[in-house]
This record gives sequence, structure tokens and C-alpha cells, in this order.
Amino acid sequence: MQKILIPLKQHVGVPCEPIVEVGDKVLRGQLIAKPAGLGANVHSSLTGEVVEISNGNIVIQPDEVQNLNEFVKIPETSSHVEAIDAAGIVGAGGAGFPTAIKIACDIPNGVFIANGAECEALLSHNVKQMNEHVEQLLRGMEYCMEITNAPKGVLAVKGKHKALVAHLKTILEDIPNIDVFELPDIYPAGDERMIVREVMNIILEPGQLPFEVGAVVDNTETIKRIAEAIELRKPFIDKDVTVSGRVKQKSTVFVNVPVGIPVGSLIQDVGGYVEPHGEIVLGGPMTGSAGTENSPVTKTTGGVLVAMPFPQEKRKVGILICECGGSDERMTHIAEAMGGEVVAREMCKRMVEVNGRYRCAMPGVCPGQAQTVLALKKEGAQVVLTGTCSD
Ligand code: SF4
Repeated sequence: MQKILIPLKQHVGVPCEPIVEVGDKVLRGQLIAKPAGLGANVHSSLTGEVVEISNGNIVIQPDEVQNLNEFVKIPETSSHVEAIDAAGIVGAGGAGFPTAIKIACDIPNGVFIANGAECEALLSHNVKQMNEHVEQLLRGMEYCMEITNAPKGVLAVKGKHKALVAHLKTILEDIPNIDVFELPDIYPAGDERMIVREVMNIILEPGQLPFEVGAVVDNTETIKRIAEAIELRKPFIDKDVTVSGRVKQKSTVFVNVPVGIPVGSLIQDVGGYVEPHGEIVLGGPMTGSAGTENSPVTKTTGGVLVAMPFPQEKRKVGILICECGGSDERMTHIAEAMGGEVVAREMCKRMVEVNGRYRCAMPGVCPGQAQTVLALKKEGAQVVLTGTCSD
């Protein structure tokens, strides 16, 4: 069996500190690293032996025989928040913020929102979860509403999933404090601030957090992991992943993949590549990053997407940056992989600086970019590579 590589940092914050040593035998579900600051517990996803601890990873040689139905349970806790903390749950939609910190707030007049937007193209594991395990999701939402004191819950889904929306509405007829909200089919409908605007009709300032206006937003898979931690005492050791793009069996959803396994094994499981193929993208096509076959599945890996080979581009490239799209770093990587030279960078005019980071003032209400494109041209760009979601 291939080694698994469990990163010490799968969350917003600082890397965890290992509490195991090389040579230790570990069990599936065993705690192997603890936060050293902002972070979340890390557990082994398989039973085996620690063979290396280096470069921010714990490497485990799994035993040949595994029982994925069994795991070391998290200890008994006196509250649901403590269970979420012990289970090492972080935002599974990609953000990776430690959930126990995010959810420990009081919104007695507010709303808990389950984010089922699954906004990036090709990803489909959240929709599969909502189609097949809605009861567990609703139980998870009720735990979250209890923790936050939110009297109301909303399950936010794109309206284009007509059959799913109809199914959810039927089920929710008997649950008066949870509603379905139909999101528009645009990117970035899954952005927290955009969801709050759509659901509550409140515009958050850049940098303002949803709880400041009485909202907590969590991805549907995060809520699944919360339900598992509370009901099964299960740590966050498995991840749902969509594999798609230039692979033989497109749009395959793997449910409960052990964290740490190399993404190449998932590509093999769907029959391998369709040739010619380009890079492996970890995450969604908009905000994902380049990986390799050896990159591990982490708590925030939603997609393993195999791209086309890059077209070649010899002209001078201008990069147009959006908060919700490809970052400057990602687009520079793409431009250089195409053989282009980056000569200019501009941001969408809605980007504003908050605490040293650029944020979008109005996600999803996107302006035309003619002005920005002209600025790039002035700076010498002959073509524009855009990470914005508008034209
Ligand atoms: S307004 Fe600009 S920065 Fe904001 S989401 Fe749209 S394109 Fe991106």
C-alpha cells in the first residue's frame, strides 16, 4: 500500500505539532498532531507506522489490511463545540478555518446558513451529499443552530438543481425552522459574503464577518463532519472529493477518501488520464492550485481536476486579479507555464485593501473590465489573463 502523507497544516493558522515519533504505530482516527496556535487537531486516517516526519508532514506506511468502518473515537466532551474542536474540523469547502472557533458564537436573532452552492465548475460532491444524505445534513444543521442559538436555518443551493431543490422543499415541509434558499447560478455564489447578501439582504463590508450581522455560514461537508463528530465521535479523517477533467471516467465523486492518500491513486481509480493531459489542479478550476500525483488529499481538497495541456502563448501577458478567482501567484504560474512573460498586473476596480489583504467590495456584482484592460495594455500587455468572474 502507498504511503500517506498527512500535512501538519491543513487549516488557516500555524502548523500543528506532532505528538508521535518515527517508528510509532498509529491507528485510524488516532490523534497525531495538536495545534501550536490557531489550528485544528490532526488525526491519522489509516492504521500503520509513522515512517517520517519532515517538511511539515507526517508520513505513514499503512498496514496492508484496513477497516475503514473503524476508527479511534474522539474523547467524551461536555459540549458539541468541544467535540468539533477535538475532531479537528475545519472548513471543508476549501477555506480551512477551524470550525470550533467560527461556530462558537451567539446569534439569537440570526440564521445559520448551510452553504451548498458548490460554486466552482466540475465539482459535484456537495450536490451528491445533499441528494443522498440530506437527513444527516439537516441533523448537522440542527446541531449548529443549537450551538449558535440561531432560531432559523437556511440551506442555500443553486436554483439550477431543480430536482434537488424540489426534494429538499418536500422534506423541509415538516421542519419549520429550516428553509431552502435558491442561489443564482453565478460565480461566486458560494462566497460567504455573497450568500449573506442573497439570503439576508445585508451587504457585508469587505473584512466584516457574517456573525457581525447574525449569520454563520458553513459548507455542507463541514456540517456532515460536525454531525459525525457529535453522533459517531469521528474525527475529521475522511474527505469527499470530485475527480474530473481529462480522466477516463469523468465527474466521479469519491465519498470518504482517507485524508493523506496521494491524489494520483484517485486518478488511477477513474481509469487514468485522457491524453494529452496537462496539470493536476487541486480544488476548483477558479481557486485551485497546481499539484502532482503525490499531493495528498487534505481536509480542504474538494477537487482533483486534470487539465488540458497549456496552450503556448508568446505574447506579453497582463494579469487581471479578482478576490474570488485565480490569485496573482496562480495566474503568474499559468502564464509562465504557457511560455508567456507577465508584464503588468491590475485588480478589478471593486478590490479594496483591508488589513493588508485585498477584498472584493461586492462579490458577484461584477463590473465591466474595459478600464482595467486598457490600463494593462498601457503597461505593455498584449493579452490578458483574467481571474475575474466577469468579462
Ligand atoms: S466585483 Fe470584481 S473582484 Fe468582485 S467578484 Fe466580481 S470580478 Fe471579482
